[in-house]
Amino acid sequence: MFNTQFPAERILMGPGPSPVPARVLRALGAPTLGHLDPQYLAIMDETCELLRQVFQTRNLLTFPVSGTGMAGMECVAVNLLEPGDEVIVGVNGVFGARMKDVMERCGATVHALEVPWGDIFSLEQITAALDQFPKTKVVALVHAETSTGALQLLEGVAELVHGRGALFVVDAVTSLGGHTLLVDDWGIDAIYSGTQKCLSCPPGLSPVSFGARALARMDARKTKPQSWYLDVSLLRKYYLAGGGNSGGGRVYHHTAPINMTYALREALAIVLEEGLDARIARHEQMYRRLRTGLEAMGLSYIPKHSLHTLNCIGIPAGTDDAKVRRRLLEEYGIEIGAGLGVMAGKAWRIGLMGHGSTIRNVDLVLTALREILK
Ligand SMILES: *Cc1c(COP(=O)(O)O)cnc(C)c1O
Repeated sequence: MFNTQFPAERILMGPGPSPVPARVLRALGAPTLGHLDPQYLAIMDETCELLRQVFQTRNLLTFPVSGTGMAGMECVAVNLLEPGDEVIVGVNGVFGARMKDVMERCGATVHALEVPWGDIFSLEQITAALDQFPKTKVVALVHAETSTGALQLLEGVAELVHGRGALFVVDAVTSLGGHTLLVDDWGIDAIYSGTQKCLSCPPGLSPVSFGARALARMDARKTKPQSWYLDVSLLRKYYLAGGGNSGGGRVYHHTAPINMTYALREALAIVLEEGLDARIARHEQMYRRLRTGLEAMGLSYIPKHSLHTLNCIGIPAGTDDAKVRRRLLEEYGIEIGAGLGVMAGKAWRIGLMGHGSTIRNVDLVLTALREILK
């Protein structure tokens, strides 16, 4: 019934993947080099440098982990935590809950800081949690909670966390390339993202960055990370010439996803050609345009502090959730997201990420929804 040879060209307006520019798809199709070919290593080095610019960091240890955003989450967790470590995780949606699960699997004792889904954490709440759990070694927050559409404010958090000798970890999967994110200025010690959200690259790599404090924590480990594949002390010997120290060559760890690296390099080049500030401003303008249109139709936003990259709106009473999404897909070719977790059946999630954050897409989804909900 479905054509398995030629996938359709959908208009991807869900929680990711976002639409991929033709330039990025073409880059994916370039000849495959060997993972130790000097030309490939130059492409990888350039990709890491572009990532530093997009993360707005000078962290040497910045590279794309092989795997999607969840691999980045696991990479940060397994390298920074040892059994028995205490962690505070902000849980206000699906991804905070996953971070808690992943960190518990590292043997950490996770103190979940909870607010209702859709809400965000205040500096006062974070301070109170640090007072309550003074042995905390890591505080982790989700910048853009894709399950609820809420934007977590991050400025000022690092000062509190560092004051207690802890590390500040951030999930930036749905914010990198769409929202202001200043890794160095905001004192973030370790961060991970994904390629298929606001960077508009296919899924498959997870950009990560570790700062000096995180590096010191890893170097002082008493136990090996339980994941060999995601062990940064091994990965850095491949991704950084001389393992980030002077001299020394590259050491094979695993075969890097060569063609995905081409795609990511191209996607990052597109981000920087547009300019980070211009891109972030575009995401805000498109969000405002969509929000104005949705509210004029009587639809309302669930979070108080909405993301510009993902719009989480309540499904009007008496509306058939699945039928509306099916009509959007079949009649208009538009994919939007269903509610996730406790929001299942209660919310729609409309993504305006990267290449998909355009007047054309905003006006198209508004027209389609107006027609279908009539
Ligand atoms: C999508 C997402 C992830 C997981 O990324 P995958 O690429 O699906 O593995 C993690 N955190 C947040 C906030 C996300 O939106």
